[in-house]
Amino acid sequence: MAIRNRLYPAPRQQPLLREHCAHARRVWNLAVEQQSWWWPGRGSAPNAVERYRQLAEARKAEAWLGAGSSSVQQQALRDFDRAMATFLDPANAAGRPGYRSSRGSQGFAVRDTKVRRINRRWGEVYVPKGGWIRFRWSRPLPEKLGTARVTCDRAGRWHVSFPAPQRPVARQRTGKMTGIDRGVATALVTSDGQHYRAPRVSSREAARYLALQRRLARQGKGSRRRERTRQAMAVVAARVADRRRDWAEKLSTRLVRDNDVIVLENLNIAGMTRKPASKPDPARPGSFLPNRARAKAGLSRGILASAWGVLSRRITDKGEASGVQVIFVDPRFTSQQCHACGHTDAASRDSQAVFACVWCGHQDHADRNAALNILARGLTLTVGELVPAHAAGHSAPCPHQPAPAAAGTTQAA
Ligand SMILES: [Zn+2]
Repeated sequence: MAIRNRLYPAPRQQPLLREHCAHARRVWNLAVEQQSWWWPGRGSAPNAVERYRQLAEARKAEAWLGAGSSSVQQQALRDFDRAMATFLDPANAAGRPGYRSSRGSQGFAVRDTKVRRINRRWGEVYVPKGGWIRFRWSRPLPEKLGTARVTCDRAGRWHVSFPAPQRPVARQRTGKMTGIDRGVATALVTSDGQHYRAPRVSSREAARYLALQRRLARQGKGSRRRERTRQAMAVVAARVADRRRDWAEKLSTRLVRDNDVIVLENLNIAGMTRKPASKPDPARPGSFLPNRARAKAGLSRGILASAWGVLSRRITDKGEASGVQVIFVDPRFTSQQCHACGHTDAASRDSQAVFACVWCGHQDHADRNAALNILARGLTLTVGELVPAHAAGHSAPCPHQPAPAAAGTTQAA
């Protein structure tokens, strides 16, 4: 977790920040390169101490690097060491630290952060060689500042973030449990029948993005114009990402506040298997909608998928901090299984919206049926822990007797 505030470097400060980013990237990439030469049996890989010595040498050899801040460069090595340690930790699924491109988002870290407040809205953070840089004090900072991270996203916006523990959500035990299904159309549906829409790409945004994408394809590699197009695409993507982040923040707070147990699909198992088939063209039977429609669908699908990723991460973080149990279950066949009788059959799912069991005739909203199955799977994993909730007199709904909730109610989150 980190507290992230928007940073507003003055125009004269920006080149130096960019240089810090470039140095941090260069040092990181050198470390990646060096690590890639090593393989088992070739003796030990260079350790941290050895690398710091090499960094000192590189600073002597490359005037450009030598002129930069050694603190920023050393911090990049520390970042790499940490990434390597995470990669080698069998309990962690993190991948091997790879090369960083000058195209992605950029950043560097500042140790022993110094911050001063200017007024209620603005503060300043000290960056080596760059001096004090203004940031918007929009979120309260942690007491201990630790290592701050300065980043520049692809849309050219700067942020400064400070590591901080997740604050618990203000809540009381509710005795409520919910299962959440990733709907194809509505982002998510809870087992009590609530539908939540993720922020969408507007048609205007999609049209602009696709037009830029086509322009990019025509432009020469490495040209200035191409770079400008790329930047414009990043601006559109950033706007959508902001809405998505905001949505995930609000909705995760609400779900954690209202439920003692939240059951989610385990994404690692499901992967991104829910690919909608190409859409038949209603005007011309037997043919499919043109590429452009598919491209737009692809765009929104990607955004929906990442909205889900952000949301489930935020639910996990906030749940952990607030004493809410968050359980991940295998989602396979949850959409084809009847919640009433347990019969699993693809034929029961004859439309996107309706579940009608071919075995017992049970009918429900398809996503809610899936959400109930997800909840039930989660509960089988926690049966022991649910007893105290009943004993304490909380009205926990039985997994097989869903609380009567209006299916299909839609809430803007
Ligand atoms: Zn059934």
